Amino acid sequence: MSFHKYHLITYGCQMNKNDSERLSGLLRGLGFEPTSEKEQADLILINTCSVRQSAENRVYGHMSDFAKIKEKRPNLIVGITGCMPGRDRNLEFKKKMPVVDLYFPTSQMGQLPRWIAELRPDIVNTTDIVEDYTKIMPYRETTRQAYVSIQTGCNKFCTYCVVPFARGLEKNRAVEDVLLEIRDLVVKGCVEVTLLGQTVNSYRAPDTHFFSNDNPYEDHFAALLWEINQIPEIKRLHFTAPHPIHMTDEVIDAMALSAHVNFLHLPVQSGDDEVLRKMNRRYTVSQFLDVIDKVKKRIPDIAIGTDIIVGFSGESEEAFEKTVELYKKVNFDIAYIAQYSVRSGTAAFRAFKDDVLPEEKKRRWEVLQALMEKNVFEKNQKFVGQTVSVLVDRNESGFCYGNSREMKLVRFLGNPEFVGQIVGVIIDHADKWLLEGVRE
Ligand code: SF4
Repeated sequence: MSFHKYHLITYGCQMNKNDSERLSGLLRGLGFEPTSEKEQADLILINTCSVRQSAENRVYGHMSDFAKIKEKRPNLIVGITGCMPGRDRNLEFKKKMPVVDLYFPTSQMGQLPRWIAELRPDIVNTTDIVEDYTKIMPYRETTRQAYVSIQTGCNKFCTYCVVPFARGLEKNRAVEDVLLEIRDLVVKGCVEVTLLGQTVNSYRAPDTHFFSNDNPYEDHFAALLWEINQIPEIKRLHFTAPHPIHMTDEVIDAMALSAHVNFLHLPVQSGDDEVLRKMNRRYTVSQFLDVIDKVKKRIPDIAIGTDIIVGFSGESEEAFEKTVELYKKVNFDIAYIAQYSVRSGTAAFRAFKDDVLPEEKKRRWEVLQALMEKNVFEKNQKFVGQTVSVLVDRNESGFCYGNSREMKLVRFLGNPEFVGQIVGVIIDHADKWLLEGVRE
């Protein structure tokens, strides 16, 4: 049997990766198989990211290559999906890519079968479409650890962010569908699930009657966490990215249930109230700290990560120092620090001046990065002598690698047979980005 081939390039976040898994599921259902050689593909698709200009530039960078392949293979279909088509209301970006045949936001991926059939009736012959793309079953290369989207889009409109424009307003998947997908993953050996959403903890179930009668929570996201905790095969559960204003007492309580990992990633973005207001983050520093306090009270040894943007419009030296102060106060375990980069189409682009100089953004980034790395190293030392629980995800050169429940990378000498297992490791050495030890 001969298959048609697709070559899929994915940029960006976990959400995009999960969407690409759906594209793979859809294309495999149409009789395609993947190829790593784009020259051999019948269909080349790029799932794009718009968070930074550099990510969009990489997409343009592919076009001359694709044009050359098309000269040799005129039937080649080139498609662009993801955030770029999502936010390209006037098709300005598309004009720069004349080689592209299909150009569609993520939410329209269910139309692909029909579009391919129109262009290549010789390889696909169907008029079937899927209205709700979240109903497409993702095809995953590995199923031991899986990302499961529970929500698409975002209602928050942080002033620096393109997501609400690129992905539309928040839509939540049905509890029934989420649980079905997780149960299907369990059959395939899944032990770890990460729930995905742009503000994942604002989840509102469209089908609350699917929550069990003995589910103790009113908050829909907490209730969903509880339901997943009832699936015994799921040993590890986490989520990304929550919004501080939706960290209700019930969500914090549900994070203490047994499957939940000992880690919370809670984006703060700035430690200055005025900057937070201009970002439209909808909380103050003291409200953020209240959430952190509650989390630490409920789960005292939890590791906490965050996202920070330095150099946002109008961020003074004093405002930046408040972020440094906040960092020290919370004593984060990890932080993803970004230098502000203005994005066209956002409210910040229209309303504020990008007035922090690039060298100053870089300096602020370096200050926080150095603080973060020092903290990580010091905090990791407390693991020396402790036994941590590791889900082994790979074996390389005689070493097993995997994450602890605090999402720290751990390495120990061991056989490939440990891959997929959760094992205890006694830590004897801790570095910034690696804990090393021996099997218990
Ligand atoms: S919460 Fe803010 S930063 Fe996050 S996706 Fe929504 S608009 Fe963007």
